[in-house]
Amino acid sequence: MRTRQFITKYSTKILVVALTLVAILTTLLLLKIGYEIFDIEIRLSEWIIGIVAPLLIAPAFTWMLFSLLKDLDVLEKDMRNLATHDHLTNLLTRRVFFEKSNDLIALSNRDNREISLLMVDLDHFKEINDTFGHVAGDNMLKAFGHMANNNKRKTDLICRFGGEEFAFLLWGMSPSDAMNYAGNLHNRLRKIKIQHNGNTIQCTMSIGLTSRDNSNKDIGINELTQQADNALYLAKNEGRNRTVVYRDS
Ligand code: GH3
Ligand code: MG
Ligand code: MG
Repeated sequence: MRTRQFITKYSTKILVVALTLVAILTTLLLLKIGYEIFDIEIRLSEWIIGIVAPLLIAPAFTWMLFSLLKDLDVLEKDMRNLATHDHLTNLLTRRVFFEKSNDLIALSNRDNREISLLMVDLDHFKEINDTFGHVAGDNMLKAFGHMANNNKRKTDLICRFGGEEFAFLLWGMSPSDAMNYAGNLHNRLRKIKIQHNGNTIQCTMSIGLTSRDNSNKDIGINELTQQADNALYLAKNEGRNRTVVYRDS
């Protein structure tokens, strides 16, 4: 871990210069120790060789080594991202969302904070695919993911729940905060215009909203999802392009 922090902290150039200097100093030190042991005077030409030899060899090898280590670091981060994020939208996968949401709910219990869940479903998405093709649909999903990630706070969990459905778990948000957040999402989606084969594609979404506080501690992510889904169902039935808040009745 330390090595990793070290190689990501400094540029390859700095690392190569530093390691070349270390190689030269080590060679000179070894030269000195060797000659001290055998009690021989070091000649100027030997000092020069002690400097020039590592100077010729070390930069090339350290450059290759650090470039390789940096590539491996990037690759590992990509692999880790692939395992936890959806490739199209770069939002969390449903599995990771469920794992992390339990931690977030436990934290909200500990800190006595509210938490809200939005279930989002893009409206008439099949029509976009049928009219403009799957690539256009994919581009809309990508743009949605980009927009959601751009407006995400560190504590929020946003996942692609499946297909054209998304879940937003919003830490510390009361129902009215979450309603404002949902309103902003509607506005931002309205501004997304996908250009495809000379067509401009836009879409709307329906949102189901539910919230919990410490008065209903027993409600976990599964119940919240169910509640938000019920509200989403109403939002669809009431004409789409709107947010509906879950009511117990
Ligand atoms: P509603 O307003 O009732 O939600 O209508 P809808 O058309 O959005 O819902 P429906 O469930 O009928 O269709 C969802 C569509 O989403 C169908 C499916 O092909 C499309 N879809 C799901 N995942 C992807 C994807 O990764 N890429 C693309 N392009 N389309 C997808
Ligand atoms: Mg839909
Ligand atoms: Mg759907």
